[in-house]
Amino acid sequence: MQWTESKTEQLKELWEQGSIATEIAKELGTSRCSVLGKANRLSLTPRKRGCSSGTRQPSATPKPKELKNRPTLEEIEFHQCRYPLGERNDPPKYFCGHDRYKNYSYCKPHVELCTDKKEFDLNNKP
Ligand SMILES: [Zn+2]
Repeated sequence: MQWTESKTEQLKELWEQGSIATEIAKELGTSRCSVLGKANRLSLTPRKRGCSSGTRQPSATPKPKELKNRPTLEEIEFHQCRYPLGERNDPPKYFCGHDRYKNYSYCKPHVELCTDKKEFDLNNKP
């Protein structure tokens, strides 16, 4: 199909409403590729995530957000998990920071990760 002015307008509208490419393609009677290509050419902003139906596109860019609220060695408090984050060979810069589990230095998932499963179960019998 041809990208007429009205179709382009429709595309923009649907895009801004947060419709997914597949839906827009169906609406306009074209293919998803065509919709994405056109959106790209129009430099439409990537829509907000998480508000439309379950088809979430995995983003290609890793999100450094993850480390944003992590405590550093200076910031970490006594009750916080000291599991170091980052590359194995780097000196740790950030720590997990979740609440510690019982009297371990780590939070529960990290205790489980670091402790032999059997030993962990033995120590945590009800
Ligand atoms: Zn942890």
